Amino acid sequence: MKLKAIPDQLASEAAPLDLTRLLTTITSNLVGMIYRSRVDATWTMEYVSDHCLRLTGYQPDEVMFNKRISFDQITLPEDRERIRRDIHATLEKNEIFEVEYRILRADGRVCWVLERGVGIRDESGRLAWIEGYMQDISEQMAANDAMLEAIRRYSSIFEHATEGIFQTAPDGYYLNANPALATIYGHASAGELIKHLRDIQQLYVSPTRRREFLDLMHDKGEVINFESQVYRVDSSIIWISENAHTIKNPDGSVLFFEGTVVDITDRKQHEAKLEHLASHDSLTGLPNRSVLRDRIDQAIVKARRDGDKVAVVFVDLDHFKLINDSLGHHVGDRLLLEVAARLATCVRSHDSVARQGGDEFVLVLTEQHGNNETLAIISRLLEVISQPWMNDGQEYGLSCSIGVSCYPQDGDDPDTLLRCADAAMYKAKASGRSTYHFYTPELNDAISDRLELENKLRHALERDEFRVYYQPRIDTFSGRIVGAEALIRWDCPGKGLVPPDSFISIAEETGLIVPIGQWILQEACRKNSAWQRAGLPPICVSVNLSPIQFRHAGLVKSVATALQQANLDPAYLELELTESFVMHDAERINVAMQSLKSLGVDISVDDFGTGYSSLSYLKRFPVDRLKVDKSFVRDIDTDPDDAAIVRAIITLGHALGLKVVAEGVETRAHLEFLQQHQCDELQGYYFSRPVPAVEMGALLGGMLAFTTLQAASGSEICNIVPIRGIAI
Ligand code: C2E
Ligand code: CA
Ligand code: CA
Repeated sequence: MKLKAIPDQLASEAAPLDLTRLLTTITSNLVGMIYRSRVDATWTMEYVSDHCLRLTGYQPDEVMFNKRISFDQITLPEDRERIRRDIHATLEKNEIFEVEYRILRADGRVCWVLERGVGIRDESGRLAWIEGYMQDISEQMAANDAMLEAIRRYSSIFEHATEGIFQTAPDGYYLNANPALATIYGHASAGELIKHLRDIQQLYVSPTRRREFLDLMHDKGEVINFESQVYRVDSSIIWISENAHTIKNPDGSVLFFEGTVVDITDRKQHEAKLEHLASHDSLTGLPNRSVLRDRIDQAIVKARRDGDKVAVVFVDLDHFKLINDSLGHHVGDRLLLEVAARLATCVRSHDSVARQGGDEFVLVLTEQHGNNETLAIISRLLEVISQPWMNDGQEYGLSCSIGVSCYPQDGDDPDTLLRCADAAMYKAKASGRSTYHFYTPELNDAISDRLELENKLRHALERDEFRVYYQPRIDTFSGRIVGAEALIRWDCPGKGLVPPDSFISIAEETGLIVPIGQWILQEACRKNSAWQRAGLPPICVSVNLSPIQFRHAGLVKSVATALQQANLDPAYLELELTESFVMHDAERINVAMQSLKSLGVDISVDDFGTGYSSLSYLKRFPVDRLKVDKSFVRDIDTDPDDAAIVRAIITLGHALGLKVVAEGVETRAHLEFLQQHQCDELQGYYFSRPVPAVEMGALLGGMLAFTTLQAASGSEICNIVPIRGIAI
């Protein structure tokens, strides 16, 4: 190492300069190692400063002149080639070289060094030595590595995130966007998104949304879960949620916004679906009860403002329970769908149709000005619902009962209006179904009457309040009583004898018909057996079966038990089923009828002519009698249509080998017509009203007198006058 000589005049003033000491001071205070090495195969060190120990873990003596180890051996083998190449390349140009590489310290640790140096040539100009400085840079390298790793990681996150990430200028253009954002908005790449979307305002479906974003950024410095609908590049609309914050300059001015975007369309659709499910009926898709109340509320608010009226129309299908119970729920569901569709055709766009539950629908008619307007819609409803319904090739007659309440006269809140419409609907049902009724305050009494009746009915059986009346059935030609129909009466305390029409439907709706029906079966069998044991001429007693009983699994068994307990020959029991029910689920009912028939009882089809009988079914059913409905008999002598129907039924019955019974025979004219057309059996007030068992016994006992009377007067049959006093 050469140092320049100190100028003479300065040297004279100072202490003699000890260059070696000075050099030692400098080298020992340096944070690195000074060295001189040969440019040879092992980088033979001719000099290393004391720092060598700290840098390499080897004493300077051990390294110099390769005493223990050469410097080339200290470097990592994989770096060696590069070090040599880099150093030579720079030295050739006579420049200061700088090279970073790893060394393996004596203690086995690897550390990074930075080596800087110059080349020294010998007299011949050959590159013979390098002199320089070497420093441990492990810490900086580690820090660099960490930083590089962080950058690599963050850029990977940016590139591969599933969330869209953006930086945008307050002016509304993108500074930066990641591929995920491009994908969310339907662009092929982030570059394309940035190029295409010059004004972020265009992104939002709502024209005020960008403004709201900017206002929040201005006021709060951030937006959190900012949900908006946006257009994708193909114009489709999606939902996104943004989280973003403002990046500011040190002077507080806004530099840009930075944030993330998530596509939440699926979630929004799911939420909307859940909301729809909660507010709509799953079968028909119509608004449900809870939405109905809102609709009525809104209609009231509007009517109050516009000075018009609202009609709440309660629509209840007649005999739905029957269809549902006899044909199964899948058919019931199909019918409800059909009805929902039909109702929808009767209302205007500003009206609502909702399903209240079961077979009850509610219409909210707005902008009503008077009953006439409402009536027009109701007549249409009745007409549309009463169109026959085809299901699986079978035609069904439908009808509904309608109750109407109006705002403002009947109430001014949804609950009151619904209650009133419901009461009016019950009134319509009670007046014979397939009709409508407007609410009147007196109806409340009728409703509470019904509830009271239902309550009392629940206890009627255990309190022994039911009675069985019997109505004789007469052979048209012999005039003999050949049978009797058991008809239930309810001796309700405080109400007297309640006719079946007032409570059978309640008993059916509540399921009470099953135990009640069983009781009648037992009672009728017991009584019939008692008459026979008392020596009266044997007759066949018929018992009406409700479809609900028929649907009940234990029917066959309970018929068998009733016969057995009464010790009655099955030939003296007949079961009556209504025609409309028989036709509902012909196949299944045929099977059930067969098992009843196999007990040995007779089966008759009641109210014949009112249903939709198919001849082919009738032929296959194990039926013994057809009972012509009394509505046809009533005007048989005055109405040619009715007369024709009854004649046809008699002919049909006979063709199928069945006996035909006419019900509701009230006059002599009825009797003559039926005799003339060979009707087999007759039942009606002309002979006898339904009478208590005691009187029926008396009639049976007096039958001899009756036939004698007939015999005496040729073909004359007279009204039977019950002979009292014969108690059974
Ligand atoms: P239904 O089976 O058609 O019974 C005949 C109905 O016609 C009886 O009414 C009877 O009193 C009435 N009637 C008989 N002759 C005449 C007449 O000449 N003119 C008129 N206008 N009517 C006549 P009731 O007893 O009031 O029974 C009504 C309905 O209640 C019955 O109609 C039947 O469907 C049902 N019912 C009666 N008892 C029972 C029962 O024990 N179980 C079931 N499930 N239903 C029953
Ligand atoms: Ca009957
Ligand atoms: Ca009948």
